[in-house]
Amino acid sequence: MADPRRRIPRTDHLLADARFAEAARRLGTPLVKAAITAAQQRARAGEITAERVADDALAALPATASSLRPVLNATGVLVHTNLGRAPLSAAALDAVRAAGGCTDVEFDLADGERARRGRGALAALAAAVPDAEAVHVVNNNAAALLLCALALAQDKEIVLSRGELVEIGDGFRIPELLAATGARLREVGTTNRTSLADYAGAIGPRTGFVLKVHPSNFQVTGFTAAVGVAELVGLGAPVVADIGSGLMRPEPALPHEPDAATLLRAGADLVTASGDKLLGGPQAGLLLGRRALVDGLRRHPAARALRVDKLTLAALEATLLGPRPPVPAALRADVGALLGRARRLADALSGGGVDALAVDSVAVVGGGGAPGVELPSAAVSLPGHWAGRLRAGDPAVVGRVERGRCLLDLRTIAAQDDRVVLAAVLAAR
Ligand SMILES: *Cc1c(COP(=O)(O)O)cnc(C)c1O
Repeated sequence: MADPRRRIPRTDHLLADARFAEAARRLGTPLVKAAITAAQQRARAGEITAERVADDALAALPATASSLRPVLNATGVLVHTNLGRAPLSAAALDAVRAAGGCTDVEFDLADGERARRGRGALAALAAAVPDAEAVHVVNNNAAALLLCALALAQDKEIVLSRGELVEIGDGFRIPELLAATGARLREVGTTNRTSLADYAGAIGPRTGFVLKVHPSNFQVTGFTAAVGVAELVGLGAPVVADIGSGLMRPEPALPHEPDAATLLRAGADLVTASGDKLLGGPQAGLLLGRRALVDGLRRHPAARALRVDKLTLAALEATLLGPRPPVPAALRADVGALLGRARRLADALSGGGVDALAVDSVAVVGGGGAPGVELPSAAVSLPGHWAGRLRAGDPAVVGRVERGRCLLDLRTIAAQDDRVVLAAVLAAR
């Protein structure tokens, strides 16, 4: 009898097949070859028959040529750093696709001359915060702080409170980032209490600027005191406020979270923020404030190393002008509506033989801001061991395991994705 392995289709034969040729045009030949090789190996190991190789390889082809896989964030953490922070709005995704080819990012189609890079996004940002005389956009908020330190505090001091020496995450610390520019840090006050006199005593001819950093991922409670921007502006040094979260205006759902408009009105000379936290846009660093300072940042040699690409500019503009993006929408979602959705999903899953219950839940903003704020939410509760299976699905669904149950929190799932969650759970049975 012939060796059944001899019947395993050869790679060049499969690549000549129209279905594989089409996939190779879309994904590139290496990815298609890799899927074929894996299926051939499964056949050689006896896991599948030789006849199954083609279908098995086709089924294993990735959806895109990137290894980044789509994930449904059912963790209840609105801004989840490990899941890429803010998911873009449909409007922002469309804008990214349109700008992906050649585009007039730095070109005036009317006169055929060079134009200001990203003027549409800058205009949208300026319109969102009329209190800012000028705006600039860099790679992320860390880059915005870096640029402030380089441009405003070379061989000078940055005065900041010991209560605001923040580690952002992954071991990165704002004071170390600032010190890396050569600026000197002048720490004032204590971890829990800093007074206006502490700042006043430190400010002098060597001061580059005073920095206020929003403690966006921790809370100090008890015997505490801090100085607001409005008091600091009277001391004569420029005041830079890092709000982190990226709220452009006050957000009713988060009354204690700082926003750019309020701090500029209080007299801040510059405000820095992230684009991919509560604003709900692409990774970006937003700089808003006095024209002379912003112009100085924009013209600093390092600005070129920190600039954003056309895709970011496209997504940012669409985030600012388009319909409310997923993160701010999740922030405002009505808990009654969330519970209704959880009940409908749990019913549908129970009908499919799954041990599913609708339960109350608590969502949080996450690394993006509002530490300690609990957002009432609703979840579908599944047996704990489902967590791994759901992560292995396509799309992957990432929930959170609490007291032995796998909770799928619906505050971080858009209502139109409920059917995707349903299908993913049913597929994981
Ligand atoms: C998140 C955060 C940063 C860093 O912002 P990136 O956009 O991630 O670079 C800086 N400062 C504060 C207060 C933050 O919350």
